Amino acid sequence: MTNFRVTRIKPAFINRAVLAQVAADALAKLNPKSRDGKRWANAIGKAVAVIEQNPQMAYDLRTASLEIVGTRGTRYTANGICQCEAYNGGFPCYHRAAARLIQRYLEIIQ
Ligand SMILES: [Zn+2]
Repeated sequence: MTNFRVTRIKPAFINRAVLAQVAADALAKLNPKSRDGKRWANAIGKAVAVIEQNPQMAYDLRTASLEIVGTRGTRYTANGICQCEAYNGGFPCYHRAAARLIQRYLEIIQ
């Protein structure tokens, strides 16, 4: 069944300038002095690299969540929550950063 609410995120078609702007906006909103400020900055940086390279991503507009296959083949569904080790340890993760960046990105380009 085709789900029209799901957008495949294809690295080749990502507008890098828009993505860079979205990431810069997200970084500007961070408080570098907050407990996780540095970790979120790192997560955002990794998320940008992953969005530009990972062909296995899909964004579900209905649930505002990103399906992403990690480097070790694990599938995550990230929005405010995630299933990864970092999230379970109470830390920022790039999956959630990527979900938020793609949400903003799609708002801008659509
Ligand atoms: Zn995660």
